[in-house]
Amino acid sequence: MRQGFDIFVSGGGIAGLSAAAAFGSAGFSVMVVDPSPPATCCTYPAADHRSTVFLQPARNTLSCAGIWDKLAPFAAPLQIMRIADAGGEASVIRKVADFNAAEISDQPFGWNLPNWLLRREMTARLAELGNVNFRPGVGTGRITQRTGEVLVSLTDGTQIATPLVVAADGRNSFVRDSLGIAVTRWTYGQQAMAFTVRHAGPGNDISTEIHRTGGPFTLVPLPDGPDGPESAVVWMERTARAEVLMAMDADEFSAAASERSCNLHGPLHLSSPRSIWPVISMQAKALTDERVALISEAAHVVPPIGAQGLNMSLADIETLLSLARKSPQAPGSRQMLATYAKRRQPDITARLHGVDMLNRVAMANSRSLRDLRLKGLGYLHGLTAMRRVAMRTGLGG
Ligand SMILES: Cc1cc2nc3c(=O)[nH]c(=O)nc-3n(C[C@H](O)[C@H](O)[C@H](O)COP(=O)(O)OP(=O)(O)OC[C@H]3O[C@@H](n4cnc5c(N)ncnc54)[C@H](O)[C@@H]3O)c2cc1C
Repeated sequence: MRQGFDIFVSGGGIAGLSAAAAFGSAGFSVMVVDPSPPATCCTYPAADHRSTVFLQPARNTLSCAGIWDKLAPFAAPLQIMRIADAGGEASVIRKVADFNAAEISDQPFGWNLPNWLLRREMTARLAELGNVNFRPGVGTGRITQRTGEVLVSLTDGTQIATPLVVAADGRNSFVRDSLGIAVTRWTYGQQAMAFTVRHAGPGNDISTEIHRTGGPFTLVPLPDGPDGPESAVVWMERTARAEVLMAMDADEFSAAASERSCNLHGPLHLSSPRSIWPVISMQAKALTDERVALISEAAHVVPPIGAQGLNMSLADIETLLSLARKSPQAPGSRQMLATYAKRRQPDITARLHGVDMLNRVAMANSRSLRDLRLKGLGYLHGLTAMRRVAMRTGLGG
């Protein structure tokens, strides 16, 4: 027998779970499926040890979805974004530029949370919503589009009928590929290593991005662990160097990370498993198809710089939800989806190219380019108006 839902979400990553909670909290009936069960504890072998910085605008989306109150007790605020240049001959800091959220707002820039904890709290929120059906362990199998609805076959044989499919099934999106939506994709010969570290000094609500070569080394404070202050690290390097680092044992790796951080926080001690992610940029050539909307990494992937990835995804969700609310009887109409694409495409394109440029600057190998980067940082930071514009742009303003 066929089951009917207002919205079908393909993919239960952080974006898919957020979308299901947002639509469910707004009163829509929702089914969300994901072939893998959510790893909701830090000790699960499949746990995601990355963290996500949610920027100011994301908090509103998460509040309306009934998620923020659950996350707030665990969230580490970020008041200052510190950019440090260490691009000289020796691995020492040449310049530090602080961007303080107090200059543009009475709120921090954002809040940092571990991804495994996000999954735990988001899954708990879905369990509270009687109108949301979350099916872990089940994938999207086939999509058949009709004028008034989409028929979805799940991998367990269930048939779903829905007026709107939200594709949140990641960078290799099954929905996107089965509809034949092409993507533009490029690589950098670069990997991002993600892990957490313990250090002696407190994080002081400061996220620190250290530039030398190969890509940024970013430390973002987490709530204190049992053995003291901890930070989440994303360390971007060219692939050959990243492979050498990943092969090191924990002590050797901790020493290399301490050196790369110019000992800014003192010695760093690895406190989680390491994961490695290929750095790519990708954009789907269309954001929609008949009764289908692509969101998050199904639609766009950016290098992990400036906390843009998931924050762009929450903007996708916020836009889709506000349009669905305007015509709750007919979500997924051609007009609604055309407006979604028109509103989101320019922002996605601008952010994708902005982050691409920042990454290329951060990767700079030659001494002259690194010196130019230092000058640029000094100029950007030295002019109050420019500094404020940069901060507002990063937040999505
Ligand atoms: C190292 C690193 C650090 C980052 N830090 C930040 C940050 O601080 N702030 C930020 O905003 N962004 C950050 N990002 C980006 C952010 O992590 C991603 O944007 C986000 O995880 C993407 O979520 P997603 O739900 O779209 O994709 P995914 O997490 O990949 O989820 C897709 C889901 O779809 C499921 N799926 C696959 N096939 C099917 C199918 N057939 N049917 C149904 N489901 C299917 C998969 O099992 C998966 O669970 C970072 C990225 C990296 C690599």
